[in-house]
Amino acid sequence: MNTKRWSVDKYVDDQGSYPHISQAADLLINNEVVAFPTETVYGLGGNAKNDEAVEKIFAAKGRPSDNPLIIHIAEEEQLNAFVEEIPEKAAQLMKQFWPGPLTLIFKKKEGALSDHATAGLSTVAVRMPDHPVALAIISASGLPIAAPSANRSGRPSPTTAEHVWEDLNGKIAGVVDGGPTGVGVESTVVDCTEFIPVILRPGGVTKEQLEAVIGEVSVDPALVDKGEAPKSPGMKYRHYAPDAPLTLVDGTKEYIQELVNKKKAEGLSVGILTTEENVNFYQADYVIACGKRDDLDSVASSLYDVLRKFNNTNADVLFSEMFPQEGVGHAVMNRLMKAAGHRVINS
Ligand code: AMP
Ligand code: MG
Repeated sequence: MNTKRWSVDKYVDDQGSYPHISQAADLLINNEVVAFPTETVYGLGGNAKNDEAVEKIFAAKGRPSDNPLIIHIAEEEQLNAFVEEIPEKAAQLMKQFWPGPLTLIFKKKEGALSDHATAGLSTVAVRMPDHPVALAIISASGLPIAAPSANRSGRPSPTTAEHVWEDLNGKIAGVVDGGPTGVGVESTVVDCTEFIPVILRPGGVTKEQLEAVIGEVSVDPALVDKGEAPKSPGMKYRHYAPDAPLTLVDGTKEYIQELVNKKKAEGLSVGILTTEENVNFYQADYVIACGKRDDLDSVASSLYDVLRKFNNTNADVLFSEMFPQEGVGHAVMNRLMKAAGHRVINS
């Protein structure tokens, strides 16, 4: 398949972008799949009402079919067509955080969406992305758009159109390039079908921010205890992994350097994921800074790009520093733990 690629203005406020947006929307209406930027990561969109379109998303990504997709909308009114009810707390969260990096789980109206999009569950995950390009494309299509991250399953999520191209060129109808995304980690997923809403996946909106609006919010025990089965089907899969095995190190930079020295003595080529503060400290084959430690937003925003950068090196093994579990640090550590297959060394 010949994958089209369009460059558009991030704010879609120039005349030149309109024809590209409408071509992308036309492909969606014709049940083709198209990648576009959101404020979190690039999404691979398809008509959520059509089985064939949804099947193309799963096929392009190589995504397991029991992992449901998030449905993206541009206007709240779109919800009524496929959601059974909007609980009061969900309405408050929508008012505060939509458009934005927050996905809410609702009871689904039967028959309104492709069952394949929701993996046959009785619930549906929905969000309204805070990105002018995503909103313009969804609006122009007039459809609810199912959109997982636009990467091959298991690989780090894409934060640039180039990342999408690396993974999906030839497998999808088009990529709309609106520049790098902002937040850099996926949306927070919150189940609003329970009286006390539950965080199923940490993300761009923090627990503290949610609680400031609706009071008590709980966290899926599986996020803290690896033995528990996650309530969100997708959370059980290996994700975000770089090609070389990654290990997180809970220790000082001196301790990390010792680990590196041991690997080097075995003749291995070593990469380190660190931050700007420590980038000049380490002696290794590849030392890459992932934002600044005192600005966790910058770490989130660079994380997937840095994981992908290691794939362009000859590193045999990778080590990463750990990050504080506060604010967006929860999402960063959740993604890093998965990228590392939960391998952690404590000093
Ligand atoms: P991705 O599309 O890769 O951002 O992943 C979407 C995430 O939302 C996955 O972890 C899914 O398991 C989760 N998800 C989607 N729909 C539901 C649902 N109805 N109930 C629980 N989790 C869901
Ligand atoms: Mg994904």
